[in-house]
Amino acid sequence: MDLGIKGKWAIVCASSKGLGRGSAMALAAEGANLVLNARTEGPLQETAEEIRKAHGVEVKAIAADITTENGRAKVLAACPNPDILVNNAGGPPPGHWSDWEREDFLAALDANMLTPIAMMKAVLPGMMERGWGRVVNITSQSVKSPIAVLGLSNSARAGLTGYVAGTSRQVAHAGVIINNLLPGSHDTDRIAGLDNNASQQQGISFDEARAARQALNPVGRDGTAAEFGATCAFMCSQYVGYMVGQNILLDGGGVNTTM
Ligand code: NAP
Repeated sequence: MDLGIKGKWAIVCASSKGLGRGSAMALAAEGANLVLNARTEGPLQETAEEIRKAHGVEVKAIAADITTENGRAKVLAACPNPDILVNNAGGPPPGHWSDWEREDFLAALDANMLTPIAMMKAVLPGMMERGWGRVVNITSQSVKSPIAVLGLSNSARAGLTGYVAGTSRQVAHAGVIINNLLPGSHDTDRIAGLDNNASQQQGISFDEARAARQALNPVGRDGTAAEFGATCAFMCSQYVGYMVGQNILLDGGGVNTTM
């Protein structure tokens, strides 16, 4: 299947590791040129070089905090008119509902709601003018089924989901397609951090915490960044033109719902 994105430019935020990296890899495999982003220069440059060597596409690597105005400006300056935008950032820390203060919520809203909204506001007018655009927001299964320790994520991502539901339907007529991709547990540093937190909270080993979590999943394992990336690339493709404002759950069936 030719995804029809060869030669297009994609900004993939927060993409030196994990799900962002998997998405960047898959887009590059389809011939898209990339703007990669992360805060830490070393791993970012390593990922950029690996992608250039593997796929021969153009890759710009912008070390910046995407949750800041300055960071977003740097990323957008490297590619003011992207065809594709994959919004992503680190997830909020785990905790308990009674612990979080206003500042904790504001930080989560900034990173996981207002940052992707600001990126969309910046690129949507150009995409609409050119008559083609794809946006995928990496959110979380927590949008469909709350995760107790991730109340900050549950809250902030619900806000982004509402914004996308309304906005996606106002830009689709111009060939601009926005959808959300909801990861369940995937094998990345993020899930390792959460397993570590669970092991400390429950007084069990890291391996026991991981095995207990995976045993609850119908597939019995975590997803891979490659599986996630391939799904993301499809959602950036020519074939997604009739999928608007959807929340696509990629979780091995972990969220137990009929629809
Ligand atoms: P990860 O493996 O920890 O990777 C995070 C990537 O984002 C790294 O490249 C990191 O590089 C970059 N990053 C983090 N904060 C950034 C910032 N402020 N500005 C720019 N780059 C930033 O995380 P992941 O598992 O891929 O998760 C990605 C997103 O999906 C997170 O929001 C997470 O909460 C969500 N999610 C993940 C899972 C899962 O199972 N993995 C499940 C549900 C939801 P630097 O640290 O160098 O900046």
